[in-house]
Amino acid sequence: MSRAETVLSALAVAMGLLAVFWPSIERYLIRAGSGLKACPYLAGAGNQGSPPGSPHHGSASGSGRFVIFENAFVLMSGEDGRGVERSFIVDTETGRFASRDMLPADGVRREDLEGAIVTPGFVDPHVHFISTGLALLGAVIDVRDVEKGADALRQRIASAVQKQPTDWAVAYGYLHEFGDSSWLDDVPVPTVVFRFDSHQLLANRRALQLASISADTASPEGGSIRRDASGAPTGVLCDAAMGLLTAVIPSPSSELLWDAYLAAERYALQKGVTRVGDMGRVSFDDDFASFDDLTDCLIPGADGMRVRVDAFVSLKAHVALKQLIDALGTTRFGGDGKLRVGGVKDFYDGSLSSRTALFTRPYKDGDGDGAGIRLVDPISWEEMIRAADSMGLTVATHAIGSLAVDEVLSAYERLPRRDDDAHMRHRIEHAQHVSSIDTIRRMAAVGLAGVTPNPQHVRGDRDVIPLRLHDEDARYSYPLEEFRRANVNFGLASDAPVVPLDPLGAVAAAMDERNRFALGAWDALFGITRGAHLLSLDGSSERLGFIDDGFIADFVVHDAECDASCTFDAAVERLIETRDRGGVKQVYVGGKHVAGRNNIL
Ligand SMILES: [Zn+2]
Repeated sequence: MSRAETVLSALAVAMGLLAVFWPSIERYLIRAGSGLKACPYLAGAGNQGSPPGSPHHGSASGSGRFVIFENAFVLMSGEDGRGVERSFIVDTETGRFASRDMLPADGVRREDLEGAIVTPGFVDPHVHFISTGLALLGAVIDVRDVEKGADALRQRIASAVQKQPTDWAVAYGYLHEFGDSSWLDDVPVPTVVFRFDSHQLLANRRALQLASISADTASPEGGSIRRDASGAPTGVLCDAAMGLLTAVIPSPSSELLWDAYLAAERYALQKGVTRVGDMGRVSFDDDFASFDDLTDCLIPGADGMRVRVDAFVSLKAHVALKQLIDALGTTRFGGDGKLRVGGVKDFYDGSLSSRTALFTRPYKDGDGDGAGIRLVDPISWEEMIRAADSMGLTVATHAIGSLAVDEVLSAYERLPRRDDDAHMRHRIEHAQHVSSIDTIRRMAAVGLAGVTPNPQHVRGDRDVIPLRLHDEDARYSYPLEEFRRANVNFGLASDAPVVPLDPLGAVAAAMDERNRFALGAWDALFGITRGAHLLSLDGSSERLGFIDDGFIADFVVHDAECDASCTFDAAVERLIETRDRGGVKQVYVGGKHVAGRNNIL
């Protein structure tokens, strides 16, 4: 599609949207309402009694606007809050933390938290939320835990198809590389399996036939159809070539998408997550998939959201997104603005595990793969980010290899600087490998909103890096501590469903001393609280991410205790230890109780 065509189709989408948008709101609100009522999380908000420590319900009973939470072990109580507070106050009217001098003489409620550790609500700044939900619902077969071998994978997929008959089997998460996928031909339906990093897929013969992929099909630019000696496709497709196949997979209904949202939200709350940066459902053939999810599913459902969602759509949909914002006159949706829009996202390069991340030197273990690939044409990509920047949108660009990081950063540096824009809105996603300290200093100098490294990937990459990368390319891999030192803001991300949404798992991985650039406990926790909020849409202008006077009261009461002898670091260790056994007791967003253990699980 040419640029003019893109603009025209974007306009058509925006115009069509206005025509169909409003009637659909009601439909979705009905759906959102019924979905939430059915959800056991909310049982406490109904007739089953108030959960303990719920200022929302306290104010409803007229017993006071302010609630003092006492006997707590509060972490992250401000920029200088490396110590620990033992109590905090929530103003239920404003939904913010309040100071003691605001308290009236009486009418104040007190809650004893019995030594529980309390943190700000966690933020995962880079997830694919609906994709995560689809995997949780089983609509996509999750094979991430299948360790090795074609047999085990085929068995998992075949038994899932037997249990839940379907026209297409879509699976996700294999780890190891396969030369061909003929072993999937026994599965009785068209089958496609995405690699865990979403840069490669396996397709069986039925699927290849439906997509009309044969020996005569040329590999598209930015992708490859792997072939055997005779030139026939082996069923392994990489990057842009995946679009040839995904174009023929039926897309999920909007009902299924909303169910997937609810499943992902429930899972997030169980992990203490109160905000996500949603990078959208990845689609390799439809640049508007994430935009359609926004208009058909997220905006209509926004009133029912319990977590904050910063929704990004494909960079290619930037004109349509701007039209939508102008037409609706807002970037915030839902009763209290939990859903934000205004972000666009693109992939600049691929991934280390599929040798498609972009470096200056060829991979040491590559077989003709060169030094990785650009998934964009740099010139038209830069034109698009300039346009998006001038529209006031936030640009998030996936860049994993050090050359990709450098090229993205240089393009950001070439954007016009604004007098009123000391803090640039744009972000580099992952920034896993960085060429030098100078690059990190440039990130700080340009005022980037931040980067979103994925420390949980270190485990998998640790063994691969020495085999795959030249020493010069691996010198600054996962340079978390260097980001901190240079004042480059960061948020620790999971990229769920690539790895499970698990912010405390990210903290544990970021603090792992085997990582040359490991973080201390405070800085790691900052990366899933205040730092991650600063990366969000509007993040720099909002008081979110600390338990401090005037900040919005998003917080989590954990099922882990500390007494007066405990230190900050010991409390973080305790949180990490308890996370596997469902360590979240109560979750509050904007001062309102949204989930609690007694009525969640
Ligand atoms: Zn991602």
